Amino acid sequence: MAVAAAAVSASCLMPTYRRLPVSFCRGRGLRLWDAQGNEYLDAIAGVGVTALGHAHPELAQVIAEQAACVLHTSNLVEIEWQERLARRLCALTGLAAAFFCNSGAEANEAALKLARLHARRRGVTAPLILTLENSFHGRTLATLSATGNPAVKEGFAPLVDGFLHVPADDPAALEAVARSRPEVVAVLLEPVQGEGGVRSLSAAYLQAVRRLCDRHGWLMMVDEVQTGLGRTGAWFGYQHAGVQPDVLTLAKGLGNGIPIGACLAGAAAADLFAPGSHGSTFGGNPLACRVACTVLDILARDDLPRRARRLGERLRAGLQAAIGTLPGVEAIRGPGLMVGIALDRPVDELPRLALERERLLLGVARGGTLRLLPALIASEPDIDDIVARVARLLTGVLRS
Ligand SMILES: *Cc1c(COP(=O)(O)O)cnc(C)c1O
Repeated sequence: MAVAAAAVSASCLMPTYRRLPVSFCRGRGLRLWDAQGNEYLDAIAGVGVTALGHAHPELAQVIAEQAACVLHTSNLVEIEWQERLARRLCALTGLAAAFFCNSGAEANEAALKLARLHARRRGVTAPLILTLENSFHGRTLATLSATGNPAVKEGFAPLVDGFLHVPADDPAALEAVARSRPEVVAVLLEPVQGEGGVRSLSAAYLQAVRRLCDRHGWLMMVDEVQTGLGRTGAWFGYQHAGVQPDVLTLAKGLGNGIPIGACLAGAAAADLFAPGSHGSTFGGNPLACRVACTVLDILARDDLPRRARRLGERLRAGLQAAIGTLPGVEAIRGPGLMVGIALDRPVDELPRLALERERLLLGVARGGTLRLLPALIASEPDIDDIVARVARLLTGVLRS
């Protein structure tokens, strides 16, 4: 299938992204259309953002209503929707207080600042925060310093100090650090490493992290920017392990495309920020918070975390049957609708081939992994359609 070429005039954008030669002017559910009216199937949902699909009618209505009331008032005044959203998120997580910002990296920045204040409270003057190898936490200076991927840091030295990277899913490595480094104050981890190749941490590992955090007074901080809000088949990724974190960060799915991030904290960290110690001009504005409240309403009403679990099983089973034995397919993994297909070769060209040959949008992650993050509102035929297109694509690519 031919795909129309994008405009060829020189771009005035900084070249931070290698973009696919397509642009969409309209969407609905898992479908997107370009200006020529060609229809595409979206299996990546704006990198895990549009969990309720494109152009959700209830969100469209709420956005229009709020725009006609008030968009922004500032954090110098009370914001009713921010209070409501905080209460909702605290009820869902068992945590005590929320801070709102505009992205995943900013949510993690807030968590890292909490860890620094936690250190000061404990009298640790040169604190260390543990993060995992192969992790991803964002692109700001502190979050790229926390990230366990050298490519993200390339060219940005000097980095922010105070991070120690440990091997992922290795409780013994963590225990060794606990014995030798009394200046550790927190652990930050993703329950499933998304950018790292859709790699789940084991429940036993998360439980070991919790035990060590309890024993040594460390904060257990979970980055659920990608795994949060139903994506993995539970409301939050940490719930699969039956543990309770001290700090939790959210962003991607929270606003379904309206930018919003959140950092939540339990009793151990909820009172560390004081007036003046952190802030954000746009963070938690009435529009973003009202949209996020509506997103939570719809996730709960339509039982979407459970739907993600069921559809994820269908997606993995379908892929396993269609391509599981193709030479070159090493693994099909990930919980719920967070699915990675590990190949034995580079995958960088596959999003373009998927677009051109199958009018399918998909992503890639580290280690030769194709990544699928479809909207949680997908229908069973949508899931089967993704399987069919991925199967045709990979059969062609791996046999050639
Ligand atoms: C996407 C992502 C981030 C960064 O979020 P931004 O909104 O791009 O700043 C951080 N952590 C994880 C786990 C992510 O997947």
